[in-house]
Amino acid sequence: MTALKENVLQQLQKRLEYCYESNRRATFKKWPFKDTKKCNASKLAEAGFIFTGTRVDPDSVTCFFCNKSLDCWDENDDPWFEHQKHAPTCAFAKMDKPEEAFTVTEFTEIRNQFIEKFLKTELKKSIDQVNEHFDDLVHLISVMK
Ligand SMILES: [Zn+2]
Repeated sequence: MTALKENVLQQLQKRLEYCYESNRRATFKKWPFKDTKKCNASKLAEAGFIFTGTRVDPDSVTCFFCNKSLDCWDENDDPWFEHQKHAPTCAFAKMDKPEEAFTVTEFTEIRNQFIEKFLKTELKKSIDQVNEHFDDLVHLISVMK
């Protein structure tokens, strides 16, 4: 296996862990609102988000499925509602229910869609890199003439 393939598969494996709500929940160690608030860590994880906050941006979260990042949360925000509002095409947000309410088929479909989307994005990145190298080579040849 090439190093690139190995790297992509490692990344995929890591990202696939976030298909599980409990793994997303575990990323919320520094969430600013209490569990009693509507916008709490469990609700955010349930709605597909992982914590991606930093010191500068302490309430940033990102959807594991569509990669949409949201911040500037209010403690009374509804994570599902905000996810659907800001990422209306996200297949996970459209599920609109906690993981425990998923059927095995639904869970498998979401997981497979995620894998397909991830691999397509990686493939596009590789193609873009090849195109960039190609353009560099064409430029180099034209300079050397
Ligand atoms: Zn999403």
